[in-house]
Order: sequence, then structure tokens, then C-alpha cells
Amino acid sequence: MSTSNIDMTTDRLTFARALYDAVPLYDPKRAPVDLDLTDNTNLWGLPPHAERALREIPVARITRYPSLYAAELKEALASFVGAKPEYLVTGCGSDDILDSAMRAFGDPGSVVASSEPSFAMIPIFAQMNGLTYVGVPERPDHQPDLDALLAAKPRILYLCTPNNPTGALLTQETLERAVREAPGVVFIDEAYAEFSGVSAVELAMRVDNLLVIRTMSKAFGLAGLRVGYGIGAPALVRDVEKSRGPYKVNAMAEQVALTALREDMAWVHAHVALAVENRERLAAALRDRGYAPLTSHANYVCVPVAQAIAVGQALRARGVAARPFAGLPHVGDTLRISVGPWEMLERFLVAFDDATANVYKGVTS
Ligand SMILES: *Cc1c(COP(=O)(O)O)cnc(C)c1O
Repeated sequence: MSTSNIDMTTDRLTFARALYDAVPLYDPKRAPVDLDLTDNTNLWGLPPHAERALREIPVARITRYPSLYAAELKEALASFVGAKPEYLVTGCGSDDILDSAMRAFGDPGSVVASSEPSFAMIPIFAQMNGLTYVGVPERPDHQPDLDALLAAKPRILYLCTPNNPTGALLTQETLERAVREAPGVVFIDEAYAEFSGVSAVELAMRVDNLLVIRTMSKAFGLAGLRVGYGIGAPALVRDVEKSRGPYKVNAMAEQVALTALREDMAWVHAHVALAVENRERLAAALRDRGYAPLTSHANYVCVPVAQAIAVGQALRARGVAARPFAGLPHVGDTLRISVGPWEMLERFLVAFDDATANVYKGVTS
């Protein structure tokens, strides 16, 4: 192979965009473990009718292209969220919606502002699209610091509710003010809305600068199929669709997602209720041990834990993974634990007791 296009001193392609030097490949350091409680997917598994649909996909659906813009899926999603189909855009996961929407509304150098901590992919999507990322630490009550966010004059203002990783629900007042005062478009990421039972979809139907972003990766258990969607004014979602391009939801994903929406809603609701019940049980078990978990409205619990990175490593050594965060504003180190069947959380607690005893051995506080 010729290496003439590689600059010997920088090890870069001579024709590479300088922009991509700073863009990392996503690496959450997720070595396989026995019990993985790091990514907030549905730990009960796939809804039953979706599973049947997956097994029964006709070969002919795979040899042909899928639908251009997933019109049938948009209709089913629209009736699920209570919007009209022309307010919907679908994508290859909600990551694809976030990425496409940044490309649709950001000119090179435009500011993307986000409250911190929040979804780790936002600065990366901003970079990938040549945009300027501005992170603003949240307030002690875990609400975004809207004054500071608006002062950054963002073309794109990203908010997440319930927020990942804290689990905090943003107030309706905060969301309405963001939409009213933002100089550009507001993204509200509702990846966990099914668990909070609260949504800004109704607000998105009334204004023309709000894109609500949702996914079938969490409550619906379809993370591997990559189905996400956005809800906003027709003119807004049309531009996201242009920047997204055709054929982004594959034929299998569309079929399985449609089946889940049509036939598995009772299963989804039942498992959302179980997740909420087990979340509260896990939070209580942590409080019994002297910890102060943050109030969560999602399917995970975020708990301040000293030396969270070390505790995370000790947990991994015991076959269990939870996601550690170092030095979050106001709360310090935390662990985020995905909620699933109670047997899994019991196993987590056993490993956690052992891991913390080991890490804090000889440490008095
Ligand atoms: C998991 C998650 C997503 C990504 O979901 P996909 O649809 O699987 O791409 C988006 N936003 C937040 C806040 C998430 O936690």
C-alpha cells in the first residue's frame, strides 16, 4: 500500500479535514462483564411481538431498499406521542436525529450550548459538524442555568429531560422559557420520557423552534435496531429530514418498531412501571447504606459515591458494571446504575457492598 498521502511527521492524511483531528472515536471503555448496568437499555429484553416480528422478517424485505423516510413508522410514532405525522422525522437512532439536526441548523462555527452534566455525545456531535460547543454547569438544584446558556447566544440549545446522568426532570417553566428566549432552535432530548410520563411534545406542536428527540432504544428495548425520532414543526423536521437523507431506518428496524408500537404497548407500559418500582427500591437500598441518591425520573439511579472511578473498577472485578462519573458539579463523583429486574439489582448491591468495603478499606471519613 502506498503511504504517500500520509504526512510522516503528523501521521495524518494530507487531505484530511483538520476538524477531525480533535474528534475522538466513541469509546465508553465498556469491556464485557457478566452484568452490565451502564447503558440504560431495557434489561428485561425485547417485547414479545417485536421479537416475533424480528424472527419472521420476509427475505424480500431485506433484498429491497426500505421506505425512503419511513412514512408508516412516522404515522405509528405520531399516534403514540399524540402528534400529527407531518411533525415527525425518524432516524438511525436518536443519535442520527441529533447529528442531522445539528447539521441542518448549524453553520460552521455556530454555537451549540448544553447544560452540564448531560449526554456525553453532544460535544462530539458538535465537533463532528464543525460547530462550537459551550458547556454550562447546571445549578445546585440540577436545573440548567438558563441565564448562562442564553448568554452564549446559541444557534442550538440542547436540554435533556429527564437528564442523563442525573435523572432530574426539567421544569415546564424552564422548557417554556428556553423556547421563548432562545435565539435559535432548542433541542429537548427525551430519551427517557416514558419513565417520567412527562413530555414537551405538546409544546413542540405550538412553536416553530423546538425539536423534541425520542428513541426506541430505552423503554422499547430496541437499542440494537437503532430507531430514533424527532417531533417538531413541519418546516423544522423537513430540514432535519433533508440533512438526514433517505433510507436511514433499515427495513428490519422499521418492521420491528411498527410491531412494537402496534402490539406491545401493554408490555412496554408494564415494564416501565416495573423499572420505576425497582428504581425506588434501589434508591431506598442505597439510602439504607447511608448514600444520598439523586431523585431520578428515568430508568437509572445516579448516586454520589466517593472515588467512583475506583469503585467502578472494583465492581468490574466482581463482574458488574455501573457507569462512574468524576467530579460532577455540586455532587462530585457519582455512579449511574441502570435499573432492571430486581435480581440484577440485588446482585449489584452485593457487589457494591464488597467493592466499597474494599476501596474504602483503612479510609476514615
Ligand atoms: C441513550 C441516549 C440517546 C441515544 O439513543 P439512540 O436512540 O440509541 O441513539 C440519546 N440521548 C440520551 C440522553 C440518551 O441517554
